[in-house]
Amino acid sequence: MRAATYHGPGHIRVESVPEPELQSPRGAIIRVTHTAVCGSDLWFYRGETDRDVPSRVGHEPMGIVEEVGDDVVSVEPGDRVFAPFFISCGRCEFCRKGLYTSCVNQDSWSGDNGGAQGEYVRCPEADGTLVRVPDRHADDEDTLRSLLPLTDVMGTGHHAAVSAGVEAGSTCAVIGDGAVGLCGVLAAKRLGAERIIAMGHHEDRLAIAEEFGATDLVSERGEDAIERVQELTNGGVNHVMECVGATSSMETAIGVARPGGTVGYVGVPHGLGDGLDLEPFFRANVTLNGGVAPVRAYAEELMADVLQGTLDPSPIFTKTVDLDGVPEGYAAMDNREAIKVLVKP
Ligand SMILES: [Zn+2]
Ligand SMILES: [Zn+2]
Repeated sequence: MRAATYHGPGHIRVESVPEPELQSPRGAIIRVTHTAVCGSDLWFYRGETDRDVPSRVGHEPMGIVEEVGDDVVSVEPGDRVFAPFFISCGRCEFCRKGLYTSCVNQDSWSGDNGGAQGEYVRCPEADGTLVRVPDRHADDEDTLRSLLPLTDVMGTGHHAAVSAGVEAGSTCAVIGDGAVGLCGVLAAKRLGAERIIAMGHHEDRLAIAEEFGATDLVSERGEDAIERVQELTNGGVNHVMECVGATSSMETAIGVARPGGTVGYVGVPHGLGDGLDLEPFFRANVTLNGGVAPVRAYAEELMADVLQGTLDPSPIFTKTVDLDGVPEGYAAMDNREAIKVLVKP
C-alpha cells in the first residue's frame, strides 16, 4: 500500500510500505477514506521534536472497516468509523472512567499499525477505540467532513471548555486561533457561553472564530492583549481556554484570568523549558485544569450534535488533498496558507 512517511525535517514522502495485517482477535483493519494533517505534526516537520526516520505519520483516521478479529463486537466489515488520535482498550481502570488517554493498553497510529496518512491502518483495540458512524450518515460527504475533526481537534477544543468550567452564561477567553482554538470557540458556544473572547494573530482565522460564535476578537500581542481583555471584562474572565501550549500563551492565560477563575489548558506544553511560574496562579487563586484530551470520551455526544446539524467544525478545513498531496499539505500548514488540511487517500 502507499503511505506518507517522515524522512526528517521538511521531508514527507508518499511511498510503498507493507500493508498492516490483523494480529489479534480484538483488532480491525481500516481502509482510510479521510484523514488530516495536524498542527502537532508540524513539530516534527519543523524539527522541533524528534521522530524516528523513517516513520509513518497521521493520527486522525476515518474510513471503512475491512476486516475484524473474532472478539470484536462493536463494528463489522463495511462500517464507516473514525478514531481518536490515541488507541485505547475501553476495559481498563482509566478507560472506564473516561480517561482514555491514560489507557494502560494504549497504542498509537504509527509503526506496524500504520499512520493515518496512508491507505490502511490497523487498530489493535477496535471496541475501545473505533466510533461507528450510523449507516444513514455513513456516505454523506458533508457529514463526514464535519465528523472528521472529532478524531482530534474538536474533542480537544471541547476538553478545553470543559476543563475551564464553561457553562451557560459564562464569559470565557480562548487563546489560540489554530484549529484547536477555533474548535474551542465552537465548544464554548455549544455549552452556552454568553461572551467568547477569541485571541489570536491572524485575521482570516479570527474571522472563522467570529463565524463560530466569538463575540469579541483580540489580535494584540503580549501585554497589550492582556490589557485589552482586562478592559473588555472589567478585570479578567472566569474561564480561560489555553489552546497553544507555549510559554507566552500560558502567560497570557494567567494574565487574562479573573481571580478565582480557571485556566483549562489543552495545548501540548512546548518551550516551557524554564518551567511554569505558579506564583500568579497562587496569588489570584486561579485553578489550572486540563491536559491531553480524552477525545474518545466525547465522541458520541459531539457526533450526536453533528448529525442533528447543530455542530459543524468543517470550516477549519481550508484545503483538501489526496494522498500524493500530503507533502504539499504539510507545506501549506507550515506556511500558514491552510488552517487544517483534509486528506482523502
Ligand atoms: Zn493531532
Ligand atoms: Zn484502557
